[in-house]
Amino acid sequence: MNKNKDLPAKGVNQITTMLTIWSQRSGEYETQLSAIFPSAAMRFTCVLCLLTFCFSLVRCKPAVQVDDIFVDLAPATPEELTFMKKYGYLPELDEQGDEDFAYTRQSISEALKKVQAFAGLPETGIFDPETKRLFKRRRCGVKDIETQSSARSRRYVIQQGWNKKTISYRVVNGSNTLAKSRVEYLMAKGLALWAPYGGLRFHKVDEGRGDIRVSFVSGAHGDGFPFDGPGRVVAHAFPPSHGAMHFDEDEIWGDNPDEDDKDVTNFFAVAVHEIGHALGMSHSNVNTSVMYPYYQVPIERLDTDDILGMKALYLTKEEADTVTETDVEYSQAPSFTKSDLDEEEENYIPDLCMTNYDTLQVLHDKIYVFEEEWVWVLRERNQIEEGYPKRFHDVFIGLPGDMSIIKTIYQKENGNVVIFRERDYWEFNPSYQILKQGSISEYLIPDEVAELTTVFLSNYNNKTYLIEEERYWRFDERTGTMDPGYPKDMSMWRQVPYPVDAAIIWKEDTFFFQGPRFWRFDNTLIQAHKYYPLPTAQIWFGCEYTPDMDRFSTNDGP
Ligand code: ZN
Ligand code: ZN
Repeated sequence: MNKNKDLPAKGVNQITTMLTIWSQRSGEYETQLSAIFPSAAMRFTCVLCLLTFCFSLVRCKPAVQVDDIFVDLAPATPEELTFMKKYGYLPELDEQGDEDFAYTRQSISEALKKVQAFAGLPETGIFDPETKRLFKRRRCGVKDIETQSSARSRRYVIQQGWNKKTISYRVVNGSNTLAKSRVEYLMAKGLALWAPYGGLRFHKVDEGRGDIRVSFVSGAHGDGFPFDGPGRVVAHAFPPSHGAMHFDEDEIWGDNPDEDDKDVTNFFAVAVHEIGHALGMSHSNVNTSVMYPYYQVPIERLDTDDILGMKALYLTKEEADTVTETDVEYSQAPSFTKSDLDEEEENYIPDLCMTNYDTLQVLHDKIYVFEEEWVWVLRERNQIEEGYPKRFHDVFIGLPGDMSIIKTIYQKENGNVVIFRERDYWEFNPSYQILKQGSISEYLIPDEVAELTTVFLSNYNNKTYLIEEERYWRFDERTGTMDPGYPKDMSMWRQVPYPVDAAIIWKEDTFFFQGPRFWRFDNTLIQAHKYYPLPTAQIWFGCEYTPDMDRFSTNDGP
């Protein structure tokens, strides 16, 4: 959703290149340090930071030793505690949290049993040698167990698939040891393993955003989930609709499928796993599954567990029955971990103050906000109409039953309302009775366009703007013709980020929405007004301001 998120990776890569160490590992750290911190003052600051960090570690070290009941257990090291928190086995504490209380030997022992159970080790609850080794194994950086610490994270534990069958992917760069073209080849191979079980088609793009984006980055790289140097975490990926796949550039990435080398990490094996996340899969405790969180080679095919998870995400029951699993063994009891919360989720209504929005639109002078299956109607900013939210299927009756979100909707000059999905549209009269289904070909949108992200009618020239992520067309409905010179690049809307989730005209002004924020467009200066973006929830829905609103956030962490 946001290009900017990927930008810091570039800077990090440059530093990584400076630090390229495979060939000259020995003896040059002094020189490298000087290269990074040219002045003595900077080196001093750096050392100071390190010292501060060490002191803070000492200060924060949990006093787990005070619990006398479980004296036979060795206390957890800070690294072991970090591991259990990071992967969801122990709760993260906020600043006021009492670590002595939360991290007793008993709670740590219980958490440890869960770690062992997930990994398929004997549940001893103590740091036996095998468990110690597990903590050091190469693995994926995504959580094993989703914790529910707040209302905000509540909805984000639910993994979902893409709301479309045709998905683009882009390989942004290669690694020091694996050429970009090789990464592209291996990605295509990995995607092909998953495709049949979701009825999905993947196509590579060389520029633009791409639904799934593969990049090699190291250390902190701008998404709040820094990598940790060689070993341990080797990659992570974000679920739909984010779709970024990050590989730790500090690993030595290789391409020999048969070799279980302790230094070289097999790209294909990791990529197949991360593709699973990028398609919406969570970790599985089935150790033959590719969604098992710990590194394993070789990976040649998906496990029954992966296939069942994939079908549950993407196929109807009838479709799933027709997909045959050739050479898949059914010896393993399936227990994919898509979500234990499906039932609760059925009745769950998202909080307008704590979410992004699928889209917004002004219809008949009221603001319609769409998120998941729900719609809110506002007669003014901050004034929600009585009786909302409602399910959009109950407002726009006649849409296909499997339509799970409304991605874009607009009102025509004659008052009719049009809802789009992929290349289809459904048109309703001003009382929202369905009139017909049509195709975006009628708007003269070329065949290669899989889906429009935003459509709106300009009050300025009464033309219809049809946006596909990074480019847009201008259509004249009165004459049924496309204006010459289109498509144009979205960068024409200066200072407006894209892809946009929504564009609306409200009281003569044009507003663009992306993630949790919005921009007002200045039609005279032809750029976004300088005081923007502002938090959508605060300005439009009267929500209390929180710092989260300024931050770009997608639905979830990796
Ligand atoms: Zn993973
Ligand atoms: Zn990342």
